[in-house]
Amino acid sequence: MFNPTAESMPVEKLRALQLERLRACARRVYERVPFYRQRFEERGMTPDDLRTLPDLARLPFTRKSDLRDHYPFGLLAVPREDVVRIHASSGTTGKPTVVCYTEADVALFTEVVARSLYAAGGRRGMIFHNAYGYGLFTGGLGTHYGGERLGMSVVPISGGMTERQVTLIEDFRPEIIACTPSYALVLAEALYARGHSPKTIPIRYAVLGAEPWTEAMRAQIEEMLGCKATNIYGLSEIIGPGVSQEDANEQNGSYIWEDHFYPEIVDVETGEPLPDGEWGVLVLTSMTREAMPLLRYWTGDITRLIPGENATGRSMRRMDIIRGRADDMLIVRGVNVYPTQLEAVLVTFPQLSAHYQITLARAGLLDDVTVAVEVSEGYFKTVGPELLEEGTPPAGSAVDGLSRQVQHRIKDTVGVTVAVRLVAPGRLPRSQGGKLRRVVDERPAR
Ligand code: ADP
Repeated sequence: MFNPTAESMPVEKLRALQLERLRACARRVYERVPFYRQRFEERGMTPDDLRTLPDLARLPFTRKSDLRDHYPFGLLAVPREDVVRIHASSGTTGKPTVVCYTEADVALFTEVVARSLYAAGGRRGMIFHNAYGYGLFTGGLGTHYGGERLGMSVVPISGGMTERQVTLIEDFRPEIIACTPSYALVLAEALYARGHSPKTIPIRYAVLGAEPWTEAMRAQIEEMLGCKATNIYGLSEIIGPGVSQEDANEQNGSYIWEDHFYPEIVDVETGEPLPDGEWGVLVLTSMTREAMPLLRYWTGDITRLIPGENATGRSMRRMDIIRGRADDMLIVRGVNVYPTQLEAVLVTFPQLSAHYQITLARAGLLDDVTVAVEVSEGYFKTVGPELLEEGTPPAGSAVDGLSRQVQHRIKDTVGVTVAVRLVAPGRLPRSQGGKLRRVVDERPAR
């Protein structure tokens, strides 16, 4: 549902609302969460010192480690009995962290996801194939409730069991689907294996997120499924998916639902706030949460706020794609590289597929990066046998030539030299519906 009162309120009104909500939130955590009271006191501040929105930057960041230190319920701003739902993050970067919701928090989650699904193209009455994982992960249940709220017929298929997913897509004919982008490709391949083409695939909209992806990957998914694919972003610490979402008619950045989640972009190294347009770490404050509001949560996600006018009449700011996590950043011979930058180069080669894996190893003192990528089925048919052999392809062979080309293009665009290994289709790990780990770190601990 499009909520014009919220989504296109005049910017001045939005800023005033944010300040009011921010101050109320600061007061609540100051009164009720010892961790935050201490944070204010350390800075010699009280919530009354937040007179303008930029004043927020005087407070320190809340980090994942703070959640772990207060595991499981130490950051609650309400009595534990008022919690109606508990989720935990998947622990992409270590031990899981626990997040809690009151009834009002679940209602908020439902509202922002309903907004998101509407922006993605979802409408009342559509069949919604929800292939996000159900369980402790926020993805499945979050999108589920939002889909019901919008009035869609939600199919809670969850992740995995791809063949069964394909059967249900054939039988129920969903117009909209939600999953990770890597799993969307797996589903597309499985549909093709059963003889489908965009003409016979019913899906018109795909709402994809939970892991980084690129424009090139979007183009590939849209072409294979014959649909419009949009980005949904979120993290459990703030609420789950539905912190921001792209508009299907615009596809140019994801609207942050700023009436609830206040965004800042800060410098990766210094933590200083950066102006709109510059790339840095996204920091979010969940102003209207009851159970576990967080002030200045360091997401670790690298993005920027897109400056300038948008095409949808919304007053909220858009964020660009996530280039990666601050902690996913590879430093290759001194150059900062995000996996998605490598992906963007790989998908410019029609001979390659979008399935790739990056391995970090250490030879002597230096880190070595190898990018393994599966070739496309078509290309495999022309050079198959050579690829099946392990080891380096013979110099001068087609495969050798192509991997050199890929290596050069990566060097030219990203600025680093990596080893490129082409492998046969189906050789690399696939998403099972959850997040796909793109980087394998084989370096011994220093
Ligand atoms: P975990 O930290 O265990 O992965 P979550 O399941 O809450 O916990 O995942 C949140 C993280 O997933 C985000 O901080 C971000 O790194 C990633 N993510 C979520 N949505 C997107 C998206 N649309 N694009 C890129 N990354 C995303």
